[in-house]
Amino acid sequence: MSKSLKLGPDLAAGIASNELIEGKPLLGHVGQDAVLLTQLGDTYSAVSAVCAHYHGPLEKGLVVGETVRCPWHHACFSLRTGEVLAAPGLTSLPRWQVERHDLRLYVRDKLQPITRAVRTPPLSATPPASVLIVGGGAAGEAAATTLRFSGYQGPVTILSAEDSLPPDRPNLSQDYLAGTAPKAWVPIRGEAYFEKNNIALKRATHVSSIDAAHKSVRTSDGREFGYDRLLLATGADPVKLPTPGIELPHVHYVRTVTDSESIIQAVQAGAKNAVIIGASFIGLEVAAALRARNLEVHVVGPEARPLERVLGPQLGDAIRTLHENKGVVFHLGHTVTNIESHHVLLNDGKALAADLVVIGVGVRPAIALAEQAGLRMDRGVLVDEYLQTSAPHIYAAGDIARWPDRHTGMHIRVEHWVVAQRQGQTAARNMLGYQQPYKAIPFFWSQHYDAAVNYVGHAETWDSLEIDGDPTQLDCAVSYKLGGKLLARATINRDLLSLKTEVQMEMENAEPNFHHVAVTLD
Ligand SMILES: Cc1cc2nc3c(=O)[nH]c(=O)nc-3n(C[C@H](O)[C@H](O)[C@H](O)COP(=O)(O)OP(=O)(O)OC[C@H]3O[C@@H](n4cnc5c(N)ncnc54)[C@H](O)[C@@H]3O)c2cc1C
Repeated sequence: MSKSLKLGPDLAAGIASNELIEGKPLLGHVGQDAVLLTQLGDTYSAVSAVCAHYHGPLEKGLVVGETVRCPWHHACFSLRTGEVLAAPGLTSLPRWQVERHDLRLYVRDKLQPITRAVRTPPLSATPPASVLIVGGGAAGEAAATTLRFSGYQGPVTILSAEDSLPPDRPNLSQDYLAGTAPKAWVPIRGEAYFEKNNIALKRATHVSSIDAAHKSVRTSDGREFGYDRLLLATGADPVKLPTPGIELPHVHYVRTVTDSESIIQAVQAGAKNAVIIGASFIGLEVAAALRARNLEVHVVGPEARPLERVLGPQLGDAIRTLHENKGVVFHLGHTVTNIESHHVLLNDGKALAADLVVIGVGVRPAIALAEQAGLRMDRGVLVDEYLQTSAPHIYAAGDIARWPDRHTGMHIRVEHWVVAQRQGQTAARNMLGYQQPYKAIPFFWSQHYDAAVNYVGHAETWDSLEIDGDPTQLDCAVSYKLGGKLLARATINRDLLSLKTEVQMEMENAEPNFHHVAVTLD
């Protein structure tokens, strides 16, 4: 949605107050800005109708109490103040003064946006002397921002192995790679943001060890950084294949800005034929992006259907057909035995022309540092519901963290953008002493051309899969159940249902429901 669209009534000219139904926002405009006007009890609020993430249309989202959630990627904002309450929202929404005269409401004057959390209860604990964050990705950036948003004034340092600013990683395989988003959209926040908020971002800084006893970390180039509280947010690394030819210069992975840019450079240098090894979410997103750049795209994977393990056969087939209709050629049930300068060879002897090869066969959590530090591990870094590891004063968040999930009653680890951000936020608050359990329902999206799969919950296995709608028409909801319990729901083009499912699962989470005993921490 464009910010310049004039939608609904001109709120500066005023509307009759009885046009508003309590709790149901009305979409109007003030000048060029789309605005949501809401009655909340005896008062009125007006906030931007444009999500502060990817500009999603908030009027099509879900209102829950005094909050509104974006239909696209589930960011949550306060309707009363515009305050961002849940990722992936990056900033608070612009807001306006509402005046009432003679039963008419007028929205005219823009107010200062909220830059500090307004709902944070006063802290009784002493704040930490300093916070050190290892990892400049989704969780690390969100944690640093939350510390400052919560009013923490002590030193905050991010040590990031990447040489870029913390990137909007989904863009690296989607819009930026497709050429439909400018480079300016890649950093989550600009350099000036970190300076202004006094967050010391040390790029290209790889941490090689942690000395938990002395509360310090050491970098590969020999520097030492002390901490009072430490957050590990080291993310994941792409799985490397042992295939002969994997080291050739036209073979790429997709994790960092450099990775994405090197693929774009290969296209700009004239690459015409791409082979994607791996029919994974990222592999298929890359396939869509390269089709948008008019390359011939072939996808090779050993499975019978793409994404079946996560989404089930019907959605897997629908997504395969979607890609085939866009010209992608699949070679499923096959592996690559050799990569050569201009070809890849499949296990049936077939040769596919390839001047660009992209590997998308999954990731592994980057846990070497946590292992070295002696933290308790379980296919990831084991944390309690406050995201604290087995070592005092060390927290973990994002792709590396395995946490006790209230909804499934299991310890789970996922690789989702929004989960990493929300965990970074919760870990930051808990470092400040708030002791808030991480209760958010997992959510991810995956964009393929104009179709987005939205997925809430977590189902590693299911005994019943219910489909409402028609996956082949890309209009459906798929429910994954185990023993009658709804574990997860994937939707295409049913954004409101996805939001409602998230809220329903949150409400079920009001009481903890662990099948496993929570981790006992040292
Ligand atoms: C191309 C791509 C597209 C994606 N698309 C989607 C999507 O559409 N939807 C979705 O839900 N999820 C998506 N994801 C997944 C999502 O991006 C991740 O789940 C998320 O980034 C995890 O956040 P994180 O903070 O745990 O790790 P990351 O964002 O990976 O950040 C980890 C950081 O730690 C740094 N680091 C690692 N080790 C060290 C060390 N020893 N010392 C210092 N720094 C270190 C890394 O350099 C990096 O800066 C995508 C991922 C990729 C790669």
